[in-house]
Amino acid sequence: MKAERGILIVLSGPSGAGKSTVIAGLMRLRQDVRFSVSATTREPRPGEEEGKDYYFLTRQAFLRLVENNALLEHAEYVGNFYGTPAEPVERDLAAGYNVLLDIETQGAVQVMERRPDAVSVFLCPPSLAELERRLRGRGTDAEEKIRGRLETARRELARVKEYTYTVVNDDADIAAWELDAIITAERCRSERRMEFTEKGDLIL
Ligand code: ADP
Ligand code: 5GP
Repeated sequence: MKAERGILIVLSGPSGAGKSTVIAGLMRLRQDVRFSVSATTREPRPGEEEGKDYYFLTRQAFLRLVENNALLEHAEYVGNFYGTPAEPVERDLAAGYNVLLDIETQGAVQVMERRPDAVSVFLCPPSLAELERRLRGRGTDAEEKIRGRLETARRELARVKEYTYTVVNDDADIAAWELDAIITAERCRSERRMEFTEKGDLIL
């Protein structure tokens, strides 16, 4: 049987909300999820790996991808460019994997417009005070960057209503379970099962 097409999941949430942490938890729970590795012009943080966390590019190399139409979406965020390489997303969806995009709100809107079948999830921190604690606790950003990220966070949180689902990351395990449940439910939507139910002897 041909693999059922995977679903495209857009996950947004302010920096420090816990997207990377919850995605890691989700990938431990299910093997059918592929993380879309983005291109960025920001500097790698300690421990981040080229090709695993991001493709770290110069501005010139990034702009070349934009010119060649190689990105599904792209945006500028706190002084750096970020974008989703289109080809691997399409390849993984066709192979039946659920593809997860960890992207900010401007890029998310572009994906929702281009791909109305995408499932959008917003990851909220329990509070702004906790968000600030997490950003500082992570210890990866300079003070000026943290202030920029908190300011951007307020604008981003106002856009939660544009997303189909909201997951609150109080306990990271529970947030991963909720994301897992969303993917399971979305895969079971009748409209996504048509290829299966309309073939064979199920429908007379
Ligand atoms: P994002 O990818 O959204 O920028 P991270 O996953 O890097 O966020 O998380 C930011 C910081 O908050 C990290 O230090 C992480 O360990 C911590 N963190 C994530 N989720 C939780 C949680 N549920 N409770 C407490 N700390 C958390
Ligand atoms: P960070 O620098 O903390 O890794 O990411 C900053 C922000 O950029 C986060 O909100 C993250 O979701 C977003 N981001 C990461 N990759 C992409 C991408 O490919 N496109 C867009 N639009 N945003 C991205």
